[in-house]
Amino acid sequence: MPLDGVVYRPPYEANSLLLEVTQGCSHNKCTFCYMYPDVPFRVCPMEQIEADIAEAAQTNVNVRRVFLEHGDAFVLSADRLLQIADAIHKRLPRVETIAMYASIQNIMHKTDDELRLLQKAGIGGLDIGVESGLDAALAYMNKGHTAQEAKEQLLRLTAAGIDYSFNAILGCGGAEQWQENADATAELINAVQPHLLFIGSLHAAPGCKLYTDMRNGTFHESTIGQLLDEQERLISRLDLKDTIYFGSHPSNIVPMQGRLPRHKQEMIDIIHETREELRDRLNEYPIRGGEGSVLDLS
Ligand code: SF4
Repeated sequence: MPLDGVVYRPPYEANSLLLEVTQGCSHNKCTFCYMYPDVPFRVCPMEQIEADIAEAAQTNVNVRRVFLEHGDAFVLSADRLLQIADAIHKRLPRVETIAMYASIQNIMHKTDDELRLLQKAGIGGLDIGVESGLDAALAYMNKGHTAQEAKEQLLRLTAAGIDYSFNAILGCGGAEQWQENADATAELINAVQPHLLFIGSLHAAPGCKLYTDMRNGTFHESTIGQLLDEQERLISRLDLKDTIYFGSHPSNIVPMQGRLPRHKQEMIDIIHETREELRDRLNEYPIRGGEGSVLDLS
């Protein structure tokens, strides 16, 4: 069955089989989110999921990775996720990882035993919008978790052997709190040592509360210079053992990828070079296109 509506997936899931198990997002109220404005949250019937797996097995039997759609598929009960994993492994025997978007609340609602069972069933590569380590920013963004809750739940995932991407957003603290946002986010990242760090920059599209707040001046967006400073401050404060830094999102002023700590200085040098190149525009606001992509930085 074709996937309904606009389909979102992390960029590194480009080769994964996308399997719809829910529609929309069970939270659907993050201040900056414009992904599912008119999509009521719904759990797909097991018969539909099994039929989709059977259909995929006809053409895609060698697939190694499956990404469960949509906004927070990890909201499903452990029993349902195990049922789905079982159906996948039966029809697609080469699948090693079953990944999906997850929220901190989704983890909270599972026991340690359930997390271990899910890991054994191949569930991993969770893509988690933690966004910030600053409680004020998390509250404004209406994420539904605090930094302490994020730390506790991410450490529970690690203890269960489930790897994940920690997604953070530069600019979450706005123009007034970019330093605090960088410091608190670095502290949280250091505490949980994620396997993958996915960095984007704050942007808003019509329809979300952030867009309205930016337009009426309730939320002050960071300038190009502040975004660069925040990125440098965040990277400088990271003290990681071995984490992939995936910052290629088009919303970033300076998209980059690397491995931390190995490429730390190289990444900071690139930010310095960019700041020099953009020295006449540091007080401007980024002009953005689709998905927050930064336009016109020449
Ligand atoms: S949890 Fe993700 S999909 Fe759901 S509202 Fe927040 S940002 Fe959007």
